[in-house]
Formats: sequence, C-alpha cells, structure tokens
Amino acid sequence: LAMALAMTACGSATKTVDQEAAPSAGSAAGALVGVTMPTKSSERWIHDGDNVKSSLEKLGYQVDLQYAENDIPTQVNQIENQITKGAKLLIIASIDGTAITTQLQQAADAKIPVIAYDRLIRNTPNVDYYATFDNHKVGVQQATSLLVGLGLKKADGSDGDAKGPFNIEIFAGSPDDNNATFFYNGAMEVLKPYIDKGTLVVKSGETDFKTVAILRWDPATAQKRMEDLITKAYSDAKVQGVLSPYDGLSIGILSALKSSGYGTADQPYPVVTGQDAEVASVKSIIADEQYATIYKDTRKLAEVTVKMADAVLKGGKPEVNNTTDYDNGNKVVPSYLLEPVVVYKDNYKQILVDSGYYTEDQLK
Ligand code: BGC
Repeated sequence: LAMALAMTACGSATKTVDQEAAPSAGSAAGALVGVTMPTKSSERWIHDGDNVKSSLEKLGYQVDLQYAENDIPTQVNQIENQITKGAKLLIIASIDGTAITTQLQQAADAKIPVIAYDRLIRNTPNVDYYATFDNHKVGVQQATSLLVGLGLKKADGSDGDAKGPFNIEIFAGSPDDNNATFFYNGAMEVLKPYIDKGTLVVKSGETDFKTVAILRWDPATAQKRMEDLITKAYSDAKVQGVLSPYDGLSIGILSALKSSGYGTADQPYPVVTGQDAEVASVKSIIADEQYATIYKDTRKLAEVTVKMADAVLKGGKPEVNNTTDYDNGNKVVPSYLLEPVVVYKDNYKQILVDSGYYTEDQLK
C-alpha cells in the first residue's frame, strides 16, 4: 500500500502493485538483513543459509550471511558487525543459545527485531519470533524409528513382532543447543517404558542427558564415546540399537562400530537413527548401514522465516502457529513450527527425491 501511495504521489499511472516483488516502502525497502548460521561443517546449515539469502534477495532485501564454524566469539562478532552495519533485522541460528544476550540487548536498543532460526535463543526478552520444526516430535520420531528398526514397532505405529530384550545406547546433541533437550526428552518419553520393562537395556548405564550429550554436535566426539562404550560394556555382548540425534554423529558412531567389527554378515550394524537427511547419511541408509533419519525441509524453514522477516520489516505481524511450547527462560517466544518426517530406506525416494530435495544422482 505504501508503495502504491508513493507511486500515486509521483504521478505514476500504475494502479496495481506487485506486493510480492519488493518490500513496499519505508525502512523495509532494500533493507539490510543480518543472517548468522552456526557452521558450514554440516550440509543442512549451508542449505539453510543459501535458501534464506536467496529468498530475502528475491524480495529486494540486502543480506549479510555469516557462518561461525561453531565458534561462539566469532558468532558474537558477526552479530555485532551486522548491528554496526545498520541491519534492520537479524535472523540467528545460534551456536550457544545463551551466549549472545549482550548483542541482543544492543539490537533491542537499536530497535532491530530478532528472529531465532531453528534453535531457540534463551534467557533474553530480545527475541521476537522463532521459526523451527516441532523439535519434541523430532525426538519422538527418532525413538520410534529405533523401535521400528528393532521390530518392536511397525512404521504405522502398531506393535511389532519382536520381543527383545535389545541392547541399546543413547546419544544426545549439544547441551548448549535448546533443541538437543527437546530431541532427548521426546525420544526418552518413547523409550522409557521399554527401558523400565527391560525390553531395552542400556548396558553402559548411561542415560542421563548430561552424560550422553555431545558438545557442539561433534562427530569425532561421538565416535570416541561409542568406542569407549564398546570397550566398557560390550566385551561379551552386542550393541543392537543406537539412538543418535544427528546424521553427523551417526556417521561417527558407525565408524566406531565398524572398527570394532560390526557391519558384516555375521555381525550386522545395530539400528542407528539420525536427523537432517544429509546426503552421506541417506547413502548410508541406502547401503543398509544407518537405519533412518529425520527429514526437515530446510526450504520450508527458510520460506517461513523470510515471510516472518518480511512481515516484521513492513511493520506487520507474522503468522505463528505456536504460542505455548517455547519458553526461553524469559518469555514464551511466538513460534512457527514445521513438521519433521521419518526417512527409511523404503520411503527415501518418495520423500527426498519426489519432493525435489535431492536428485537420484546425488544419492548414488
Ligand atoms: C538442528 C538439527 C541439527 C543439529 C546439529 C540442531 O539444532 O535442529 O537439525 O542436526 O542442530 O547441527
């Protein structure tokens, strides 16, 4: 509307305005948006960054996109720089959801709105919106895929034929990433009754979040922990399932298992879960190594986030679909949650290839 008015004022004969084509007017037009992503070491964040940037640019915004290689001081600097450069809005996928409070205060002082991307930013009033997937559901799906792999459940949710007991081990994500707790809690809600009944046995005895969490989601740390678990608890038993919350960790876990003799006809790999549907892991699923992953369409997350950003920059209210679940320790952050999907060997084509997320060639 503002653009329409401006055009009328300039005497333009054009009556209709393509609202989608460019930010309409005022501070929004051509505004700089600062986007910070955690790392390029995992494919998903590269897709996220690319998608957010190109969608914002399509709407006429300028974009400063930064990656911090999982280094907190680097991310802090990047956000400070974006504020200094005059960014009108910040989109942040944080490394440590509690480490950028000072920068967010600077942003608030300069009236720069902030959207938390995928990961909630904690302990601050200065985060306006949150775009993510249903993180609790991701955890439920990861645990369910583990049960399906073991034969305790069927993919449709009904009970499977297997009886157990099965030896499993549990991994969680980075303790400073709010999502990690959501994944873990969602998964444990599903697994706990089986552990309590003795159908699932965590032979190492390590089930506590703090004990099983892998700092910064580091694959090498997960590999080392898996090696240690095998030495500690599996001299005369086999691992039959591993709850892994992220494909990068799953790859580390599978390497440790391989070094210990798993992955043969006599001693197959345990059921290993994952998340993000990264190319290497989808290939691993096709090769009967990793069992499942959780697909989160980063194109959709970028789309939702960019819509939010555009609405906020134009002084409007973005659409949200959850105003209860994401309390950041200071306030409940209005959120838009997307649906995650479980990927198995028998549905990867339909979910990942038919949707155009990957081509069949990329997965060869
Ligand atoms: C994301 C996951 C990702 C993990 C490691 C989490 O915050 O939600 O999709 O696997 O970080 O990068």
